[in-house]
Amino acid sequence: MIRFPYSKQSITSDDISAVNRVLAAPFLTQGPEIRKFEIAFERVTGARNAVAVSNGTAALHLAYVAAGVSRSKGLICPPVTFLATAAAAKLLCAPVAFSDVDPITGLMTPETLRAAFEKVSFDIAAVTCVHLGGRMCDLSGLKEVCDEYGALLIEDACHAPGAKHTLRDGRTVAAGSCEIADYAAFSFHPVKHIAMGEGGAVCCKRPEDFSRLSTLRNHGIDRSKETLPIDQEVGPWSYVNTEIGWNYRLTDIQAALGSSQLMRFKSSLDRRRMLSRIYDQSLSAIDHVTPAMQPDNPSEHSWHLYAVALDFACIGKSRSEVMEDLAVKGIGTQVHYIPLYRHPTYAACGRSSDFPGAEQYYQNTLSIPLYPGLMPDDIDLISHALAEVLDTKNN
Ligand SMILES: *Cc1c(COP(=O)(O)O)cnc(C)c1O
Repeated sequence: MIRFPYSKQSITSDDISAVNRVLAAPFLTQGPEIRKFEIAFERVTGARNAVAVSNGTAALHLAYVAAGVSRSKGLICPPVTFLATAAAAKLLCAPVAFSDVDPITGLMTPETLRAAFEKVSFDIAAVTCVHLGGRMCDLSGLKEVCDEYGALLIEDACHAPGAKHTLRDGRTVAAGSCEIADYAAFSFHPVKHIAMGEGGAVCCKRPEDFSRLSTLRNHGIDRSKETLPIDQEVGPWSYVNTEIGWNYRLTDIQAALGSSQLMRFKSSLDRRRMLSRIYDQSLSAIDHVTPAMQPDNPSEHSWHLYAVALDFACIGKSRSEVMEDLAVKGIGTQVHYIPLYRHPTYAACGRSSDFPGAEQYYQNTLSIPLYPGLMPDDIDLISHALAEVLDTKNN
């Protein structure tokens, strides 16, 4: 029995009441809860121009449409990410190229991005950086490289609501604020910070993009009077369809759950940060374990994941042996992520030897449990179990 999964949602009686209220209200979808959630999400996280959608993949897909990712203009993203970061571009028939990442943080850097631009053989519309685990990438550095090559910058911020980042000029920006990037995508899958069942949001820098993204989320139904063809009779029913869209709507049921979760977003984030500090302390005493993705300023990290780098060769056990031994002790772990070039779907995008940073990160990484419902004592227990499992002399 896994007592501590690597991530776990928290649902309170307030969350349940919020959902129940919507179930008894006139609108289950396309009602008032969506806009309420978008506004609250912006206020609480510092994200800007948020359009709530059905999941994080839909958010990426719409960001890519808006950024002009297409058959003739591709995407660069890191391979150490969830499938959706690249798949959303593939769904637009766009070519994808991978940028290597830093072997310690797993993040794309201005240097690895520049190397990817120099190698790529097709035009690039946009670059997606992934704030892996909740640690933000060097946005101003990446933006400089993107500007040089005429590409837009998109944040895959699915791990990073509430994360902050101090720019090279000293300003601090929030994930999804779009002060530097052009678009950002969030996911509200229950393993992420805000649990909605399924849900997501796409954010944008430019207000005109906000209305386009809102329209694309709902079949491309445009109700603005200015765009109506002059020969169309105007009435309460009028709309025009000028661009094919999707049904990427979030329901009011999900939005109400999200808004209720947002009420304790800040305290949950503080708790993740506090628990991570305890891990840092207790893991520092264990050989062959290095906490990964440590930022200069830990209070800017949103701690979706707590990943450690393990030196399996020195430990004398494989990763799956370590995972199995931990599972026996009730501790769930996960690997974030199998680099995308290792999947048959991306075989044409390179192989392991092309991405030494991603390979090193992947070979060593393991995510251990982190979620607000954990107690400080649980962290000690998990750290202790990890020390036992890694100490092969005792096994
Ligand atoms: C979860 C996640 C997504 C996709 O979000 P869904 O809501 O599951 O569609 C995309 N990118 C990253 C990095 C994620 O972790």
